[in-house]
Amino acid sequence: MADVQRDLKFVCHMGVCGAARLLVWLALVMFLACAVLVHLSLDFPFHAADAHKHFWPLTDWRFHSPLSYWNDHHHARWVGVLELGLVLISMAVLWQRFHSRWVRAALLAGLTSLAAVPMFFWWTLG
Ligand SMILES: [Zn+2]
Repeated sequence: MADVQRDLKFVCHMGVCGAARLLVWLALVMFLACAVLVHLSLDFPFHAADAHKHFWPLTDWRFHSPLSYWNDHHHARWVGVLELGLVLISMAVLWQRFHSRWVRAALLAGLTSLAAVPMFFWWTLG
């Protein structure tokens, strides 16, 4: 009888652990899905000649925005300034809100990449 109870406790424990792991994975998948949706919603107003088919496969229609995040003929410099400002404000909000070392290390890594990526292209492409 003690063996059965021990086995039942083990099975219940594994069930709880499995459910907890599943919830963690579901939260991660939800986080990534939300990040994709935010990215797609920001692609919509900032692609001019290279617009995506946002509603494919329902339709092949493309919205050619007057703004571009990379093309200077479509105000890319101003879009870049706006983007940089929003990124810096978002990072400051996250820095204030989260005190974990991991979050702050990720924010510092993001801040470093914000400067390192343009510097890389500046040095390599001139
Ligand atoms: Zn995109």
